[in-house]
Amino acid sequence: MSWWKKLTPDLMTESLSDISLDFLGKKGIRGLIIDLDNTLVPWGGFEFPPGVKAWIQEAQERGFKIFLVSNALEERVNHFRESLDIPGISQAQKPRRGAFRLALAQMGLEKNQVAVIGDQLFTDVWGGNRLGLFTILVSPVNEKELFFTRVVRRLERRVLKRLKA
Ligand SMILES: [Mg+2]
Repeated sequence: MSWWKKLTPDLMTESLSDISLDFLGKKGIRGLIIDLDNTLVPWGGFEFPPGVKAWIQEAQERGFKIFLVSNALEERVNHFRESLDIPGISQAQKPRRGAFRLALAQMGLEKNQVAVIGDQLFTDVWGGNRLGLFTILVSPVNEKELFFTRVVRRLERRVLKRLKA
């Protein structure tokens, strides 16, 4: 496989919660390997963006197996393993394939039944593609926050201008 193909996601969405579970189900996907930082929560943060927790719950109710695979430290990944009650691997060394293989084995699923969801081309997408998994790139949670902040700031300036006038 050429290097650029390895860096090309099969699907791109704005947020985790924009991914259609119907679509994944129809593709025969039964398991989801999900990145933590900037995919599930802001980088280094603990608060879920709107819709993300509900999406996870919906996926669980539909019978999707979910596995966190993160390059973050154990303490941080453990917090989410416990709060979401889903298994996970910390210090995964993505794009190396070891952690993805371990997740597949623990879910008891084949490569063509698993999607990798993450915000980074060089870890999540590359690693997933190397193993032949379905790869989904989401835009980083932090950048979305920055975008939102910029919009709010612009509104604030307009309101202040009006108030002064
Ligand atoms: Mg990430």
